[in-house]
Amino acid sequence: MTANLLDFDLDGLAAFCERLGEKRFRATQLFRWIHQRGAHQFDQMSDLAKSLREKLATVAEVKGLSVISQHESADGTIKWLFDVGAGDAVEAVFIPEHDRGTLCVSSQAGCAVGCRFCSTGHQGFSRNLTTGEITAQLWFAEHFLRQHLGRDERVISNVVMMGMGEPLQNYAALVPALKTMLSDHGYGLSRRRVTVSTSGVVPMMDRLAVDCPVALAVSLHAPHDALRDSLVPLNRKYPLAELMDSCVRYLDYAPRDFITFEYCMLDGVNDQPEHAQQLIQWVRTHGGKGVSCKFNLIPFNPFPESGLTRSGAAQVTLFAKILSEAGIVTTVRKTRGDDIDAACGQLAGEVKDRTKVTQRMQFQRNAALGVTSVSHDAGGVAA
Ligand code: SAH
Ligand code: SF4
Repeated sequence: MTANLLDFDLDGLAAFCERLGEKRFRATQLFRWIHQRGAHQFDQMSDLAKSLREKLATVAEVKGLSVISQHESADGTIKWLFDVGAGDAVEAVFIPEHDRGTLCVSSQAGCAVGCRFCSTGHQGFSRNLTTGEITAQLWFAEHFLRQHLGRDERVISNVVMMGMGEPLQNYAALVPALKTMLSDHGYGLSRRRVTVSTSGVVPMMDRLAVDCPVALAVSLHAPHDALRDSLVPLNRKYPLAELMDSCVRYLDYAPRDFITFEYCMLDGVNDQPEHAQQLIQWVRTHGGKGVSCKFNLIPFNPFPESGLTRSGAAQVTLFAKILSEAGIVTTVRKTRGDDIDAACGQLAGEVKDRTKVTQRMQFQRNAALGVTSVSHDAGGVAA
C-alpha cells in the first residue's frame, strides 16, 4: 500500500525511512522538502539520491486534499472547503491580522458532541480525519498563501484547532499533526501559537498536557452544570468541577500561564449578569486557588435549527465589564469573514446532507469558478 507522507510526524517519517534502509537525516531532508518547501513530487527533491527518489516513488506519495471551493472575504479571510471523500467535506479558514496569520483547522468530519449552538454539532458525526488530512490543511494553506501573496517566508504563524470537530475525540491523529506544526523541520510554530480548543474531554486534556502541551482553549459556555448539560452534552460525562480540576492540572504543563475560556453569548440563555458572577466564583475559588484564565466572548453565529439568537451588543459589553472588573482579562471575539460564512460554528454547515452532497459539491465547484461568497447560501438552496 502506498504511504501518504503527510500522515507522519518527523519521528514517524524517520521510522518509515528506516524500514526502507535509510538514515534519519534522510527523513529530515524529506520532511523539510514536504513541509518547508511544499514539495509533493519526489523528483523535485534534488538533494536526495536518485535511487532513494525512485524507491520513494514506488512506495509513498504526498497526498493533499482536493479543494472544492475557495472564498475570499473583503477583509482578507480565506475559506477553503476540502473534499475528504464519501460525500464528506471539511473547512479551513485563514485569518490575516497585522501581526499574525492564523489558520483555523478541522479535526473531524462532523462532530459527535452535539452542542446546541453549533451547526457542526447539528450535522452529527461522520468520521475522524487522519493525521494526513489534518496536516494537509496547513500544508496546502501555507504553500498556497506564499504563492498567492508572493511571499518567500512563512505566512501562517498561528494554528487554532477550532474548525469542524472535537480535536480531543480524535486524539491519536491529532498529536502527530500538532508535532509537525511545532517541528523546527516542519512549520516551526511556537507552542504558544498552536491552540487546541475543546468542549472538555477531561482525560484527553490530561494526556495532551504530557504528550504535546500547546495552548489550550476550553469551550465553557455556561456557569453551572444544569445549563452546560443542555448546551454542551459532554458536560454530563465531565461536569464543571472535573473540567476545572483538569484545567488546573493542565496549567502545570501549558506554554502559557492561563487557559482561554470560550463563551458563546446566547441571548437570554447564558448572558445575564448573574451568569458572569457565577463564572467569577468558579475561576476565583475553584480548588482553593482558582483557575488562571482569560475569557473570550464569542458573539453567537445564528443558524435556523438552533432556535437561539445572538446576545445584544449592550449585553455582551456588560458581561465583559463584569468579568473585567473582577480582574479577569476578557476579550470579545471580532467576527471575521462574515460575508463568506467563515465565522465560528458556521463551518461546512451545509455539507452533511449525504443525499445531495455530490450535487452540492458540483454546484459549489461551478460557483467557485465565477463568483465569490456563494458557498453557504448556495448549499442551503441546493439542500
Ligand atoms: N470542538 C471544539 C473546537 C471546534 S468549535 C470546541 O468545541 O471547542 C470552535 C469554537 O466555536 C468553540 O468555542 C465553539 O463553542 C464555537 N462555536 C460553535 N458554534 C458556534 C456558533 N454558532 N457561534 C459562535 N461560536 C460557535
Ligand atoms: Fe463539536 Fe465543538 Fe461544535 Fe460542540 S462546539 S458540537 S464540540 S465542534
